[in-house]
Amino acid sequence: MKLDGKELATKIKDKIREDVIKLKEATNRVPGLAIVLVGDNPASKIYVNSKIKGCKELGFESFAHFLSDDISEVELLEVIENLNKDERVNGILVQLPLPKHIDEKKIIDKIALEKDVDGFKPENLGLLMLNDEDAIISCTPAGIMEILDNYSISLEGKDVVMIGRSNIVGKPMASLLINRGATVTICNSKTKDLQEKTKQADIVIIAIGKAKFLTGDMLKDGAVVIDVGINRTEEGLCGDVDFVSASEKCSHITPVPGGVGPMTVAMLFQNTLRVFKKINHI
Ligand code: NAP
Repeated sequence: MKLDGKELATKIKDKIREDVIKLKEATNRVPGLAIVLVGDNPASKIYVNSKIKGCKELGFESFAHFLSDDISEVELLEVIENLNKDERVNGILVQLPLPKHIDEKKIIDKIALEKDVDGFKPENLGLLMLNDEDAIISCTPAGIMEILDNYSISLEGKDVVMIGRSNIVGKPMASLLINRGATVTICNSKTKDLQEKTKQADIVIIAIGKAKFLTGDMLKDGAVVIDVGINRTEEGLCGDVDFVSASEKCSHITPVPGGVGPMTVAMLFQNTLRVFKKINHI
């Protein structure tokens, strides 16, 4: 069965749009999302523009900052500081990657904790690890949890293999799964006998950025497969999973495009709405 992230994201965004209308009536305010892009990386520009468009569709106010790639670290820190102080801004998103002369960690550190709608700050990752409900959860893992819940895929007692250990996908994903009672194996590029591990798994989640890496022969019958990868190939956009061979083995699978990607964007708006409600005591 195809796990349709696009359809689910549309449903979630419809609900957010309705909420925003009601909240505007009640508070005369709307959620505000600041989006900061440094330089003119074409892929980043596409992501940023789709987020600005999303803000418009959902009734959010957006504050776009398109900055030249020769901006200094100090100047960028000032931009963030001003957004931290701006009461109309509930969430701050800095599109990564940043140019090499800017220390990403310093920039993320500067974002006010309560406006970290990407959930990238160490404090939010720590809160997530502690299963604290105040954690703002990184959008891609949060979106995957929504997909699993929407399709009633239970996690308690399940063996999950997470391939990839990045701070934005693999590690927070593992924490979410552990918090829900799954037994998680986190794999990386040095993992020995990966196939032995994936073949035992009830659920395999992959986020490595290697086109069609996970094939059907690496899966057990009836496994659930979540494909986070986005790879631009000559054949077009494809995930980290070989969809054709994996589909023959698994019970559920996310497609690329139309799976995890749209859910990641929906979660950004959901996180921003959550911050807005918290600030307005709703
Ligand atoms: P990342 O920071 O580049 O990390 C990649 C991870 O994959 C690393 O932990 C690496 O291991 C591991 N890896 C690489 N080759 C491997 C192999 N052969 N076997 C096992 N593990 C291997 O990646 P990321 O930022 O998490 O992104 C991963 C992919 O997801 C990319 O294609 C990205 O575009 C996509 N992505 C999609 C969304 C979405 O919304 N759909 C969101 C975020 C990312 P080491 O740590 O040992 O190097």
